[in-house]
Amino acid sequence: MSSFKNKNEIKKIYFKPLIDLVEQSHSIHKKHFKTHLIQASKLLSIKTGACPEDCAYCSQSSRYETKIQKEKLLDLQTVIFKAKKAKEEGATRFCLGASWREVKDNRPFENVLEMVKEIKKLHMEVCCTLGMLSLNQAKKLKKAGLDAYNHNLDTSPEFYPKIISTRSYQDRLNTLKNVRQAGLTICTGGILGLGESHEDRCSFIQQLCFINPPPESITINTLIPIKGTPLENQKAISVLDVVRVIAVCRILMPHSMIRLSAGRSQQSLTEQFMCFYAGANSLFIGNKLLTADNPELSTDHNMLESLGLKMKAQKESLKV
Ligand code: SAM
Ligand code: SF4
Repeated sequence: MSSFKNKNEIKKIYFKPLIDLVEQSHSIHKKHFKTHLIQASKLLSIKTGACPEDCAYCSQSSRYETKIQKEKLLDLQTVIFKAKKAKEEGATRFCLGASWREVKDNRPFENVLEMVKEIKKLHMEVCCTLGMLSLNQAKKLKKAGLDAYNHNLDTSPEFYPKIISTRSYQDRLNTLKNVRQAGLTICTGGILGLGESHEDRCSFIQQLCFINPPPESITINTLIPIKGTPLENQKAISVLDVVRVIAVCRILMPHSMIRLSAGRSQQSLTEQFMCFYAGANSLFIGNKLLTADNPELSTDHNMLESLGLKMKAQKESLKV
């Protein structure tokens, strides 16, 4: 059971002096996880662009003039080739992302089920992030061998309508309910730096705490401003705010993986170190994160080495 707290209790933790907050989160982190191990995932965009949704941050929305190349659903061979390469590079989880509003019961979904089945034969964890999902579709993914489903809440319920108008917060929560009911693990989280307030961040964290049992994975993205989107000129937030959110998530959901996701290419080595120290223990490798830049694999290897961290091997447990 997550140490669910009401909003005021979350705020009391959130507004602690950062040095005390991180000391508390790191001590909780090392009670549950081997803090020198980082789990690596790789995220492949299997269908890119032309999304009907209006997520104000997203390069793939058909509403905005962004420079991404639209791509139809990749073929099975290409996906398996990329999964094999990701495994060789040290990824223990392979994530398939599609720029869909929702999954439809059609041929492309059947193809994705095939991809999941084939990647499982490589003895990797597989995650999908395909938009909204019915219980039946979640069960089909589970039957195909899927381990996890990513579906981000992105921000607080109060701020959400300012970022996305083509779906509701409840729509997202419904998908997470279907994911859990189908026996898949939940990967959810958000984007910091959308213009949200500290209050919004506490409300977003509270939503994560409402998920019971807590999400097995919490994704923390930092906004990558994309030219042509409504947030293209959004002022960057201080990484100290990212560290703060990671620390509060670690304290309130001590058993969840915390994935330091989009935005790492904007963070210095020291800033990333602070995120790991506060409790993040996963990253995405490869110089492309769906359509956004991400550090080169060699850069990440050098970073981990200089921080005394290493990528967890396939069979290695992160748990103490
Ligand atoms: N289309 C599916 C959906 O919306 O659930 C898959 C989305 S895929 C996982 C993209 C995720 O990356 C979004 O949920 C969002 O949290 C994050 N993201 C997208 N664009 C971003 C950006 N410009 N900066 C940071 N994070 C971003
Ligand atoms: Fe579409 Fe997902 Fe991008 Fe939103 S985040 S515009 S749903 S691809």
